[in-house]
Amino acid sequence: MNKLILTALFALGLAKSGFAFEFSERPWLNSNILGRVSPDYSPTAREDFYLSVNHDWIKNAKLKPGYAANGSFYELEYELDANLRGLMTDKSLTGHDAELVRNLYALWLDWPSRNTAGITELKKHVDEVEKIKSLDELTEYFKSEECRLHGCFIAGFSIGYDNEDSSFYNIEIPATALMLRDSAEYKNLTPNGERIKKMRSGFATFMLKKLGYDDDAIKKILDQSFEFENAIADSMMTHDEKESPDALKKMYENPVTLEKLRELSPVFPFADILTAHKVFSDRMNLQEPAWLKALNDLYADSQLENIKAYLIRNIASGGITTTDEESYREYQKLVNERYGINESAPDVELAADFVHGNLLTPLTKIYVEKFISDETKQDVTEIINEAISYYREMLTKEDWLSESTRAKAIEKLDTIKPRVAYPDKWRDYSTLEIGTKESGETLRSALDKLSKFSWDYFYSRLNGRVDREMWGDSDAIIVNSYYDPSLNEIFIIAGILSGDFYNSKRPREENLGGIGMVIGHELSHAFDTNGAQFDKNGSLQDWWTKEDYKKFQARADRLINYLSNMKVTPEGQKYNGTLVQTETIADMAGIKAMLGIAAKSKDFDYEKFFRAYAKIWRSVQTRENIDSRLKTDVHALPYIRVNAIVQQFEEFHKTYGVTSGDAMYLAPDDRVAVW
Ligand SMILES: [Zn+2]
Repeated sequence: MNKLILTALFALGLAKSGFAFEFSERPWLNSNILGRVSPDYSPTAREDFYLSVNHDWIKNAKLKPGYAANGSFYELEYELDANLRGLMTDKSLTGHDAELVRNLYALWLDWPSRNTAGITELKKHVDEVEKIKSLDELTEYFKSEECRLHGCFIAGFSIGYDNEDSSFYNIEIPATALMLRDSAEYKNLTPNGERIKKMRSGFATFMLKKLGYDDDAIKKILDQSFEFENAIADSMMTHDEKESPDALKKMYENPVTLEKLRELSPVFPFADILTAHKVFSDRMNLQEPAWLKALNDLYADSQLENIKAYLIRNIASGGITTTDEESYREYQKLVNERYGINESAPDVELAADFVHGNLLTPLTKIYVEKFISDETKQDVTEIINEAISYYREMLTKEDWLSESTRAKAIEKLDTIKPRVAYPDKWRDYSTLEIGTKESGETLRSALDKLSKFSWDYFYSRLNGRVDREMWGDSDAIIVNSYYDPSLNEIFIIAGILSGDFYNSKRPREENLGGIGMVIGHELSHAFDTNGAQFDKNGSLQDWWTKEDYKKFQARADRLINYLSNMKVTPEGQKYNGTLVQTETIADMAGIKAMLGIAAKSKDFDYEKFFRAYAKIWRSVQTRENIDSRLKTDVHALPYIRVNAIVQQFEEFHKTYGVTSGDAMYLAPDDRVAVW
């Protein structure tokens, strides 16, 4: 009832004079919350630039089934996904890549065969853990191929780029994977952690029941696995610690040898387990030494049942998406609950996501052949080169930098390798065969082949040199872009080169406000708190002078302070400026770089530019999704990514005649752009 009255007050025309008192967010309404914007609240560019550009879209925006958010990124993704699905069903496409993609897609969608196969295979893998009777048997299990291909580890490993010399691969050893993701949740369960717990316990409960466990046994498995996680979480870094500026050094400067691992962990024989899997290298990094010590202390008879429960729970839950239809529907129900989604995405979309995740290279190859032209690749490369030359100018002009840091920054800038659209060299998939249902293939057998194939790939790179022309495991067919500090390369990928971001036929101002801004943003990451820790070759090494870095920090602190005073929920919750500082610095630098290009262009239409920028960030999200992002997303909320960014620049104030008293106004002395 109250809500209705409030809406009526808006409608009666108070919106114009009294709108500022109708919401508690400051300085702008959080228009990203689905349904938060009243149709009658329509501020001007001077009051709320983001909403003035996106008002009509936000007012009418709906969520697509299966999604907790919508916006430019999502719309482009729907288009991209539809194109990818088209490729998965196009029988006219010839060649091995198209065949792999087509067959896996059909196998995923074949519910009758999946239902017939059921959980038989999954049960075998769970039983392998059930029959373990002693710590020695547990160790043998960790050394087995069964564990590597179908089980799970309490201490795992992955392949990465060596932190001292990124032209080599290394072995990364992360800490134990936790159900609640963040070790801080084990001390202090937040509402967000509670939602994760509910969802993931739900996966486990459903699958364990299906596997024949009764309610008491299920409860016992969940309790015991939590007991193990509780015990180990204490020694692990929290999410916030991993996001802090000194985290890279803490986590990636711990080279270890097998001997060292043996010394650190004599009881839990991690070195022997790695040796059994032939996983060793001259270049290994232990991300959290304190964790391994704790795991070693825990590896005792008293924890045997708890560790077994942890393994059983994870193996069982892992099967929820790849066995039968009943399980998959339960999975969807639980995910929807957790994110506040009302309706699930259609199966064809989920099948396509699965193929995308499992056959990335073959799918990318057939996509770029059909959808990306050489002309696009060239044009975007040109914008990158222009942005780089502006950065050179910008770095030269920043008078707070010392000569030494400046010289190193420019050297690093000149070494950045732009990667545009798709790799020039592809990983070889010719030895992978995935057949059709008619030839006897099932989703399960295909998954086993994929698992073996990716392990072969893992071993083929171990102890080898990195071939940078292959782009590693980078996904080029998503709507995104990134800077990789360990390579000093920016990736402006095929998936983002259309929609509101790029179109070769529209005005240049709009492309600069879209993809140009993205490029400027990514370049900034070479010089921010993360980038300052990697040199021009991508090795983990400080290149800023201590003094300059302090100055950078002081500038960042002003920005953190500014963001932290914003109120971003209807309850007036304050923003976590520290969490989003790096990405916000990048947004500001991105706009600055494009404005630098604009200043050199004849008759530049600033309004087209700013509008294009605001448009790429249009977005609505469920409240649950917003809450989850406020806690973990290092990017600012979209309305802040626009309003708090553009107001740093005189060009914006001039274009829209913004003056003091306007909510978009920021006095020159109060502006907080770091660059
Ligand atoms: Zn970024």
